[in-house]
Amino acid sequence: MIFDATTFPRDTELTADLCVIGSGAGGAMAAMVAAEAGLRVVLLEAGGFYAPEDMTQREEQMLPKLYWDGGGRASADRSVRIHQGKGVGGSTLHNLNLCKRIHPAVLDAWQRDRGLRHLGPAVWQALYAEVEQLLEVSAVPRERWNLHNRLLERGCNALGWRGGGLHHNRSGCIGSGFCEVGCAYDAKNNAAKVLVPRALQAGAEILSHCQAVRIDHDGMRVTGVRARAVAEGHMAPGHEVRVRAARVCVAASATGTPALLLRSDIPDPSQSTGRSLHVHPAVVAAGDFEEPVQAWLGIPQTYECTEFLRFGDDPGRPAAPRRTWIVPAFGHPLGTATMMPGHGALHREVMNRYAHLAVLTAMLHDETAGRVTPDGDFGVRVDYTPNAADQRELGQGLQACARLLFAAGAKRVWIPTPEHPRK
Ligand SMILES: Cc1cc2nc3c(=O)[nH]c(=O)nc-3n(C[C@H](O)[C@H](O)[C@H](O)COP(=O)(O)OP(=O)(O)OC[C@H]3O[C@@H](n4cnc5c(N)ncnc54)[C@H](O)[C@@H]3O)c2cc1C
Ligand code: SF4
Repeated sequence: MIFDATTFPRDTELTADLCVIGSGAGGAMAAMVAAEAGLRVVLLEAGGFYAPEDMTQREEQMLPKLYWDGGGRASADRSVRIHQGKGVGGSTLHNLNLCKRIHPAVLDAWQRDRGLRHLGPAVWQALYAEVEQLLEVSAVPRERWNLHNRLLERGCNALGWRGGGLHHNRSGCIGSGFCEVGCAYDAKNNAAKVLVPRALQAGAEILSHCQAVRIDHDGMRVTGVRARAVAEGHMAPGHEVRVRAARVCVAASATGTPALLLRSDIPDPSQSTGRSLHVHPAVVAAGDFEEPVQAWLGIPQTYECTEFLRFGDDPGRPAAPRRTWIVPAFGHPLGTATMMPGHGALHREVMNRYAHLAVLTAMLHDETAGRVTPDGDFGVRVDYTPNAADQRELGQGLQACARLLFAAGAKRVWIPTPEHPRK
């Protein structure tokens, strides 16, 4: 069953074989597998539980529910925005359902540098086959690509750049375009739809609105987790929830996990916890087209440009960006308004072109290692400044986005800047 911890009338204590913290892509899978293997599982999730009928398709209602800090989480110096999901299903509630296999060069590096000798190509192959079947991953047929994605294809073709269609985990998708604020049609084969029901069926108990604050341990073994009920939008935490468990799986995301481990003083002989945050930093450019693009309609991301995603396999072009991935980046009105340049009448003029905009994002496989530290009992602090190589490649990525947009027929291209737009 799923219990909302804010409805508990008093402090509560539970016992489990395994306490999982976080119900996103990682935690929901761990809870499902462990419960189906016969373990008594308690899963703690800081966010709420939302069924498809709760997804109202309104940004001002869904962003505070499905995103940490209402979608406004950022690095401590506010220079890098960090989108992270919450709720039963974690970031898979609002993510865009693309399913890409990790590049072999990255897998090789992990095997080589991180001692993952047992994770060879055959093992990955088998894992991918299993998970892709579970999530019903398939290529999005070309006839379902919207104009926004076809413009990226058009730009790639015009420039002779490498690109192609993407694979997704969706069934019954009607192409409403609201993926980033939750699917009202239950078409995402995400953690909430696929993994959580199986975990529950196998007896797992899920506590929503329940944020883990500390892991109890004696320096050698864990003994459980202490958590607090946290209501949506309320600053003051509610009752304590204590889970006694000899096993704890921390799957509280790339920021929540290190923050919790550090707050709990978990022994860390290598002193590496919280010192290797990678965020795929991204830049965006918006092209203004004469024809209405109506980027909000249809499946948001179905085409990718991989011209600059080369991971060292192109020694003939050493100066070219090689860690940059370009895809359409759709923004709902509120999100777009915060990214577009200018103020007042100038900003209104830009936003009046909303229906004609195609937005591309260049996303970087970053070298920078950011830092995560706990901020009090409930928050995280992220320090992340892209290093010089990443800044250079982001700049080149932005330039590539602009070139693609012009090649696809854009009349002008805007980039997010405090400056007012130049004509
Ligand atoms: C806008 C966006 C689009 C994306 N699109 C894609 C895509 O198309 N394809 C793709 O492969 N990836 C995509 N991603 C990335 C992908 O969703 C994440 O990499 C993935 O969900 C991470 O899994 P996770 O289990 O580590 O964390 P999450 O899925 O984020 O889950 C972590 C969970 O832990 C909870 N939590 C945190 N701290 C605590 C605590 N102390 N106590 C209890 N609970 C806690 C959080 O509330 C959250 O629910 C996207 C991400 C974003 C932001
Ligand atoms: S585009 Fe498809 S998956 Fe996304 S919200 Fe609409 S119906 Fe759901």
